[in-house]
Amino acid sequence: MSAQTLAAIALSPEKPFELREMELLPPRSDEVQVKIKATGICHTDIAVKEQAFALPLPMVLGHEGAGVVEQVGESVTHVKVGDHVVLCGDSCGHCRNCHSGLPFYCVEFAQRNLSGERVDGSTCLVCDGEAMRGRFVAQSSFSTHVIASTRGVIKVPSDLPLELMGPLGCGLTTGVGTVMNALKPEPGSSIAIFGAGTVGLAGVMGAKLSGCSKIIVVDINQARLQMALEIGATDVINPEQGDVVEKILSLTAGGANYSMECTGVPTVVLQAVNCLTPPGWCAQVGVTPSAITVPLEMDQVVFGRGIRGVVMGEANVQNFVPYLAELFRQGHLPYDRFVKFYDFADINQAVYDSAVTGEVIKPILRMPE
Ligand SMILES: [Zn+2]
Ligand SMILES: [Zn+2]
Repeated sequence: MSAQTLAAIALSPEKPFELREMELLPPRSDEVQVKIKATGICHTDIAVKEQAFALPLPMVLGHEGAGVVEQVGESVTHVKVGDHVVLCGDSCGHCRNCHSGLPFYCVEFAQRNLSGERVDGSTCLVCDGEAMRGRFVAQSSFSTHVIASTRGVIKVPSDLPLELMGPLGCGLTTGVGTVMNALKPEPGSSIAIFGAGTVGLAGVMGAKLSGCSKIIVVDINQARLQMALEIGATDVINPEQGDVVEKILSLTAGGANYSMECTGVPTVVLQAVNCLTPPGWCAQVGVTPSAITVPLEMDQVVFGRGIRGVVMGEANVQNFVPYLAELFRQGHLPYDRFVKFYDFADINQAVYDSAVTGEVIKPILRMPE
């Protein structure tokens, strides 16, 4: 039997998110129906709505959902009704990268997470009698109830505050994972992090856990730099106050061992490579405008410097998200310090406060009971 859900539709860059009642079709054999308790808003949701990341609209977005399992398909064995879960993306489970523990490089990643539809082209939402795209990152969590793919449903301990857990599924996995899984900095090494949003700040937490001795954060927002210092950055740089690369070279006596670029701004990408010591790696995390080229100076690259893209912290999420939940319990992931809760109905205000004014770092929408 199908259920009703209240979901926020992204219609176009010009129009605000619109809350609508719609029909939620029952879960298939490999799917899980989840009652969403709360969902984070991630920059990618806003980029899709604004069409900077041009996926087809209308679509129900949202990909940091946390909730309670309401119903499971017959082949689902790892969660049961009543479990607390965090939702993450889907993967095929049988391609080479899935077998290597890298589900976010799955050959079917785009179809399963970005098309708004299942692999067979169907969807699980019906609005005014018409199919509505609703498989964003295999969940579309801007909705009171969702149908999620089993591989992206991750059980978390029920004694942790569920309304805070959603960002573990994207922002925290991306930030902490990029440092711990992809860059793997040695204790005592230095790292420069460009952009102090949720992902950059989670990178600071990962760098601190890794024992980095210099954690340098770059951002134009002074309040975010202050937050970075409070959670473990050793130095902060505001690019409006001088040459960023020069400052990093001087703070690290010759260049950072690692860098993490979270802004996607092409000039910042260059800085994130040019601030490295030879040899050194930059992880490109920020989504750059499509079809952009970045004029890397080969003189910089030849001496062992390099850049590579990292998606979702290269995490095997079924293991990594519970690991993050335990780190949170132990106080190592203090992201609750920069969360602001909003009622679901105030989704447009939450987007404004985080993306337009930048006042709020991580908005979380609370669903009505
Ligand atoms: Zn995200
Ligand atoms: Zn795969």
